Amino acid sequence: MAEKDVIIIGGGLAGTATAFYLAQDGVSVTLIERGGLGGEASGANAGSLHAQIPADPFRHLGEAWARQFQPALTLYVESLRMWGSLEAELGTDLEIKFGGGLMVATSESEMAELARKAEIERAAGLEIQLLTREETRRRAPYLSDRAIGGAFCPQEGKANPLLVAPAYARAATRLGAEILSAQGNATITREATHYTVTANNQTHRARRIVIAGGTGTPALLEMLGLQLAIQAFPIQVSVTEPATPFIPHLVYCAGEKLTMKQTRIGSVLIGGGWNARIDPRGRPVVDSDSLASNLALACAVVPGVASLTLLRTWAAFVNGTADWLPILGPLPGSPGAFINYVPWLGFSGGPAAARALADMVQGRTPSVAADFAAFAPK
Ligand SMILES: Cc1cc2nc3c(=O)[nH]c(=O)nc-3n(C[C@H](O)[C@H](O)[C@H](O)COP(=O)(O)OP(=O)(O)OC[C@H]3O[C@@H](n4cnc5c(N)ncnc54)[C@H](O)[C@@H]3O)c2cc1C
Repeated sequence: MAEKDVIIIGGGLAGTATAFYLAQDGVSVTLIERGGLGGEASGANAGSLHAQIPADPFRHLGEAWARQFQPALTLYVESLRMWGSLEAELGTDLEIKFGGGLMVATSESEMAELARKAEIERAAGLEIQLLTREETRRRAPYLSDRAIGGAFCPQEGKANPLLVAPAYARAATRLGAEILSAQGNATITREATHYTVTANNQTHRARRIVIAGGTGTPALLEMLGLQLAIQAFPIQVSVTEPATPFIPHLVYCAGEKLTMKQTRIGSVLIGGGWNARIDPRGRPVVDSDSLASNLALACAVVPGVASLTLLRTWAAFVNGTADWLPILGPLPGSPGAFINYVPWLGFSGGPAAARALADMVQGRTPSVAADFAAFAPK
């Protein structure tokens, strides 16, 4: 049983990116994934690189919540900056494009909300342009007349989620990390000075472990006698046949659940967090009522999608927290154990969170500028 400096459990974006940044710093790493790399949320997501404050919690939790969310906003801004050089760093095409994100308002009250949100966003370093109806029409002629204005953020964009976790894992492997997939569920045992992780009839040992299990995190924490307020919700995304490029932006709505973007090959991804169902075996499956509502909304906001054929809809569990804040850092009462858990927008925030966590594991102040005290596991 060869001992490594760090064992990471979970081969989504959080785990593979942490493995890469640790390996880049010369730390020896074994990553253990129960299934395929990026096989859960990290590969099933909609590929939006977001940073604007999500409209739904802003409306329901209020401005006081948005101010508490500000450290996360800073993390997302840092992360989008890192996405900008990620292809060069990992040496591969990830289909990243920063066409800007347009949050569309369909009423004056939504426009007023966007303006209040923009103040908090700008304070965190986001560039937000509030657009009138005419400016919105000029910038986004593909929108219907329902759009009466919007908030445009040029830093936002998209990437292909199918490519990212495997690319991080390949780059980490090149730097010497051991990446083990298809291992089945790992279990953790705490010893006096070490952690023992068992999976696929093999035992791995290290003084430090990183839990990056996404929605599988609660079961892993339980093995350390810990419980954190972690949530999981089944949601779904759809993809159309390829079309001539006509949506250059990441589009979302201030008042309703909708995100849309066009992939490099021209397919339109339609999502927004619509509920899927859970089947009797506990797996997420597509809900047809949600699908009908999601598509009707997409056609109402971007009429050009109405003539496209839908190719596929899929469902997956998204990881959440009630306050939308990440949980990042050393786990209480478990010396040497760390967690990397970015809820809701974990694709967007993944690079910065992993870079910061890799620093914390090495006992360093994070090189990413954000208030990490706000994310400390409690
Ligand atoms: C449908 C959908 C759309 C989304 N859209 C977006 C978006 O557009 N933009 C955005 O920023 N975010 C989006 N998200 C959220 C984002 O995908 C997640 O927040 C992010 O991928 C979480 O990454 P992760 O690595 O923490 O978790 P995961 O990707 O879930 O990875 C965790 C890994 O840990 C493994 N694991 C768990 N337990 C064990 C164990 N005991 N042993 C071994 N392995 C284990 C799992 O198999 C899994 O591969 C979306 C999510 C979903 C589901």
